[in-house]
Formats: sequence, structure tokens, C-alpha cells
Amino acid sequence: MSKPLSDHDRKKQISVKGLAGVENVADLKKNYNRHLHFTLVKDRNVSTKRDYYFALAHTVRDHLVGRWIRTQQSYYEKDPKRVYYLSLEFYMGRTLQNTMVNLALENACDEAMYQLGLDMEELQEMEEDAGLGNGGLGRLAACFLDSMASLGLAAYGYGIRYEFGIFNQKISSGWQVEEADDWLRYGNPWEKARPEYMRPVHFYGRTEHHPDGVKWVDTQVVLALPYDTPVPGYRNNIVNTMRLWSAKAPCEFNLKDFNVGGYIQAVLDRNLAENISRVLYPNDNFFEGKELRLKQEYFVVAATLQDIIRRFKASKFGSRDIVRTDFSTLPDKVALLFDITLSFCLAWDICIKTCAYTNHTVLPEALERWPIDLFQTLLPRHLEIIYEINRRHLENPFCLLLVNMAHLCIVGSHAVNGVARIHSDILKATVFKDFYEMDPHKFQNKTNGITPRRWLVMCNPGLAEVIAERIGEDFIRDLDQLKKLCDFVNDEAFIRDIAKVKQENKMKFAVHLEEHYKVKINPNSMFDIQVKRIHEYKRQLLNCLHIITFYNRIKKEPNKQWTPRTIMIGGKAAPGYHTAKMIIRLITAIGEVVNNDPVVGDRLKVIFLENYRVTLAEKAIPAADLSEQISTAGTEASGTGNMKFMLNGALTIGTMDGANVEMAEEAGEDNFFIFGMRVEDVDAMDAKGYNASEYYNHMPELKQAIDQIAGGFFSPKQPDLFKDIVNMLMHHDRFKVFADYQDYIKCQEKVSALYKKPKEWTKKVILNIAGSGKFSSDRTISQYAREIWGVEPTLEKLAAPDDPK
Ligand SMILES: *Cc1c(COP(=O)(O)O)cnc(C)c1O
Repeated sequence: MSKPLSDHDRKKQISVKGLAGVENVADLKKNYNRHLHFTLVKDRNVSTKRDYYFALAHTVRDHLVGRWIRTQQSYYEKDPKRVYYLSLEFYMGRTLQNTMVNLALENACDEAMYQLGLDMEELQEMEEDAGLGNGGLGRLAACFLDSMASLGLAAYGYGIRYEFGIFNQKISSGWQVEEADDWLRYGNPWEKARPEYMRPVHFYGRTEHHPDGVKWVDTQVVLALPYDTPVPGYRNNIVNTMRLWSAKAPCEFNLKDFNVGGYIQAVLDRNLAENISRVLYPNDNFFEGKELRLKQEYFVVAATLQDIIRRFKASKFGSRDIVRTDFSTLPDKVALLFDITLSFCLAWDICIKTCAYTNHTVLPEALERWPIDLFQTLLPRHLEIIYEINRRHLENPFCLLLVNMAHLCIVGSHAVNGVARIHSDILKATVFKDFYEMDPHKFQNKTNGITPRRWLVMCNPGLAEVIAERIGEDFIRDLDQLKKLCDFVNDEAFIRDIAKVKQENKMKFAVHLEEHYKVKINPNSMFDIQVKRIHEYKRQLLNCLHIITFYNRIKKEPNKQWTPRTIMIGGKAAPGYHTAKMIIRLITAIGEVVNNDPVVGDRLKVIFLENYRVTLAEKAIPAADLSEQISTAGTEASGTGNMKFMLNGALTIGTMDGANVEMAEEAGEDNFFIFGMRVEDVDAMDAKGYNASEYYNHMPELKQAIDQIAGGFFSPKQPDLFKDIVNMLMHHDRFKVFADYQDYIKCQEKVSALYKKPKEWTKKVILNIAGSGKFSSDRTISQYAREIWGVEPTLEKLAAPDDPK
């Protein structure tokens, strides 16, 4: 028997992490020491762990520089059609390990750090997440950037460099408390400011109509200052750019004309302009209608379009660009083209030909409808143009009081798509039915995906290695090759290897949990995880009802052989979303009772995972046995968390919603725990009326659970703490939690039964991994490229530049 390998030795063996050649390691050490000295201005006596992280970040960054410059040079020389991905969110997470993975530097850096007496994993923990997103939509943008670079598209991400990203969530006495995310406090080694490309963006003012055209005058100007972040492709020497705009007041801000406050006040007021890029709005799937948010949307679009047009004018051949808008951002493009040089017809034609609109939700409260008076004040000229678009293109006129941004996007784009098959069908059948009937050829589907680099190779190297041992490494670029794993579904050694990696990941996460939550974890229990934003439609409450039911069953028959579970729920609630915050409080309250009940012991633990974010997803998902994807059918556009779990060897319990439908199809329905109403059932129920009390009255275990919540069983010091939640569930539950309760509980019983047969369980895990190839964002991006953007993925590699020696 071989002796067990230390973490460090094991890493050295892993081929997916790149080779640690001797010269490579020597050069890295030399450059690391150079950066510690010249960049950090420290020696080993006074260096902090953060200094060590920054020195490593700079050392790795140096390997991007030559590739970045040469990629952009090659785009200038070849002038391919560019893709511009505009998004208010890019949820990037950490950059160091991702860069090492994509540049095949991970083993060499690990070895270099080891030789210098440092633990690379510890240094990585010093990096702040770039949390410039709320959830799935922002993370999708980040996965797309990775795929676009890996597929060799000349692509750019454009967004806002928020000074404060998504808040940090603390749990205090069971309640969510928000803390500001001051992610730039210690500096950001991955960005490069480009003040030479600063752009003016205008707001407010009024329009003057002259015989020779329209003028927008008396505006306030804010400058948009770009910061570039490199986006490396997977081992192809391509490095694209994510350009994020920061708001800067002009020097003369508030100092001219009718300003009354005087010099000091004028300088203090610069904050007002610079607030535009201060903070990310923390709502997921919810439209708040704040003026500052409309300013942010216009700011990113106006700055980006100027940048695109500058690049277009400076291009060698005169390129054929495409703008892809994620939000309702296009009137700005029209305005620019319309008033400056072109006729309305030509400008509108260019707008439609260049823009494509992706819809990300069907929830009515999430769709943007801006009040006319707000629009009128902030962007008076743009409102006039919207009226003109309305007059010419919309049969059924806009509501007179609101600008419906989704409708504007549909008429202003040549393609409209949803993000999973079922979601795209719902758009055509209900949400955008009229538009579909007018223009059926515009409507498409592009099922979402995730990047297998971050969501497998980087976060679960053990699994990536076990797979690579059987089918080679090409699946990392071409995830469909995971299908080859079907051949190994009866291979005893492979089954053992897959189960072993999962157990190792669980042990590692259990250590993290015990440190963090002071709860003793049973590593043999099923790790049952639901991590995503807290929202009524995602139905964390249905999960709670299962937990309570399971708890009551253990209490009723304490000597039965229950399948032990550690149930983890994590996610942020929007600070203004009262019900979501109460859901968090309920989860922590259930945990307090269940986790301290000696009858239960280690057969059930309930843990609220604090501060769920990209970095925590990377730790939790590889450790999951069971993935909870239990939204009401018809409400989750796609989901991407579901795909991360599938790729990392969890089984899914889920409704026929979003991408779950296609995941079950790929894995085989026998290997998927499907329950609950289908969309048709939900629609039928809406037609006849949902009556929660019928379920409550006819299901004793449901009644018991609700009575316990309502009666203070989980909040003895405050028996009526959850009265709002109970009232909602009983009387105005839009998401019909009770209607799926019984089927959910039955399905969970099947899950528990299968978990008792580890080999059968693992075989289904293998078939899920084998079926997860479709959910690579490389596939998604290839389809966007060919079917909407009119560009061809190249898969070409650039020549390697001279790396720092
Ligand atoms: C993938 C991801 C999401 C999206 O999860 P869903 O379950 O699809 O809502 C949200 N937050 C983070 C941090 C993620 O990584």
C-alpha cells in the first residue's frame, strides 16, 4: 500500500493543474521575491499574509501581460467582428486561482510557494471576491467572459466598477445583518486604470427644437473612467478585456454658472456625481425604480457606446460590430446615432441589427417599467426618441405613465431569447405573446451554462483528475466528452474513485463548517444543500417544511434507521425584502431547536451558510450529495446553480422548472428526483384558484409543521415571530408551497432510500456527470455566436509570448 500523500504532494501529481518544471518554479520564486521587494516594498520580516498574496498576484499577473497586449494587437490587425456584452453585473469572484488554472501555472506556483515556506491555499484566502453581482445573472456574465475568451471570440465585457459590491452578510442572533463590501480597500492588483479613455456622460438638461435639428442643452456632465481587467481564455494565450466604468466628477463640477454654494461646497458636492458607481443595487429579480439605478444604466451604456464607436472609427478596415444588451439599455444607442449623425431610420436600423436582447426572468415585479416623469427629468431627449419609437413601431401603445424596457428591447433588437427551453416557450406563449405573434422569427432559446474551468477544474481538482484519468483532459475544453463516462458506470474502481473524491470534499467542507459554526458534522450524513438568493419563488420555505417533517418523524420514531442528513441553506436576502429576511430567521430558528435536540443527535443538522457568494459556492458545491432546485414550475428562468451541482457529482431533487427540465433529459429521468406540479398544473391551479387551507386540513404532518411555526415551537421567546410567514403561506402564497408539499416529502423519502445504497447512488452520480456536458457555457456561447451574433468561434490558439524569466 502506498503511504498517504500530503496535500502538497497530492497537488504536485495532479496533471490538470499544469506541470511544475524546475526552471518555471525558479523563475516564479525570483519574480515573487522581486515583487515583494519592489511592488510591496516589504521584506519577509514585516510582510503580512496579505502582502504575500499580493506578491503572488503580481507574479501571476505578469504572465497575463504579454498575452493581453498581443491578443489586443491581433484584434487590431485582423479586425474581427467584436462582441460587446453589456451588463450591470459581473459576479467574478476571485481571480488568482482562475488565472493560474487558465495559464497552467497552478502546480508551479504551488511548488514555488512551498519552497518559500508559504501555503498557497492560505494566500488565496486573502483575496477579496469581486462581488459585482447579485446571483445567477451576474455569475452568468462572468462565465460567459471565460467562455468567450476560451473560444477565441473578440469579446469585451462592459459594466460598472462599483466601489461596493454585494453586501457581506453576517448572521447575528439568527438575523441577517448587512455590511458594506469595501472590496477595494487594499487595492486591486488585477485592474489597470485607463484615464486616457475617459468619456463624458450627460444627464438632466432640456431639449431645444431648431429647424436644423434637436439640441440637448444645459446638461450635467459626469466622466466615465475605465478600468480594465484581463480575461484569460483556457490555455489558448488569448486574453480579452472586461472594461468597468467608474464615475468621476469633472474638474469644473458645480463651479460654473449659477452655482451658489461656493468653492468648498462645490468640491464636497463632487460626491453626488461620483455616487453613480458607488454601490451595486442588492436586488435579485426585483425592480426598485430608483433614479440612481436609471443613472447607472444610462452611464454604462453611454460610456460604452462612445468607446465602441471610438474603436470602430480607429479600426483598420471598419468593422461590423454587434452590441448585446442584457438589460433595457438600447435607447441610448439610438440617441447617439440619431442626434449626432444619422437619420432616425438609419439609426434605428443599425440599432436593430446590432442589438440582441436576452430576457432573464418572467417575474412581473422584476421587469423594469420606469415612470415617465423620472425619465423626462433625467434623459429628456431620450424620452422624445422613445415616443418616436413608440409611434412608429408599437401597435399597442405604451402605457402613458411608464416606459416598459423589455418591450423597448424587443422592438429594438433583431433577436430575443430566453435562457432555458421552458423559459423561452413561456416568453412566446405568455409574457411576450403579442410580440411573438408579430415577429415570430426574432424569438430563440439559448439555454444557460457554466464554465467548467471555475466550476470543476478549479473548485474540484480531485474530481477533474479522476475524470481525466479515464477520458483524458480534453473534456475541459469540450464538455460533451463527459458522455464517455457512461462506459465506466459499472467500473468498480471508477465508482470507488468518484465516491472517494466526494468523501474527501465533504471532509474538507466539514472542517470549514465546524470551525465556522461550532457544530459537529457527521461526515457520513447526506449533505443536502440549497444555496441561492433567498426568494419566495425559490421556495426555501418548502425545504423548511421538509426539515420540520423529518425532525418530527425522528422524534416520533427515534429508534428507526433514518438516513442522516446535514441540511445546509445559504443565500442573501435583499435588504428591503422583509419576507426573505424572515425566511432566514426561520431557518436559523429551526436550526437552534433541531441541532440541540439530543434525541436527534447527529442524524439531522440544519446549518445556515453565512455570506453565500462565489467563493463559498466553490467550497460547498463539490461537497454536496443532494442539490435542492425546488422553485415553483414556471418561475426560475434557468438556474445555473443547478448545473454546478450536477457537474460536481450531486444528485438533484427538483421541479420541472428552468434548466432542470433539460438536466433531467440529459441525465435520464431515472437518475433525477423530479417532483411537483408541472407548468400546466400550475396554470390549471391558477385558473381554478389555489386554496392553501385545503392542503393544511388534509395533511396532518403539514398541519403539524405549520402549527409549530405558528405556535412558537421554533421561537419560544417570541411565539408570534413567524406570524407573517404563516399568514402568507396560508392566505396569499403566490408560489403554492403547500401544493407541492406531499410530492416533495415522498420524493425526499426516495432520496433517503437510495442514499442507503452507496453504489447505486454513485452510479446515478456518474450518469449525471456524464450528462452535464450540455451545460457548459462554451456550448451556450457557441450558440449565441453562430445563431445571434454572426461570429464563428475560432478555437485558435495564439502563440505563447515570452513569459517573465
Ligand atoms: C451560480 C450562483 C448563483 C445562481 O444560483 P441559482 O441557484 O441558479 O439561483 C447565485 N449566487 C452565486 C454566488 C452563484 O455562484
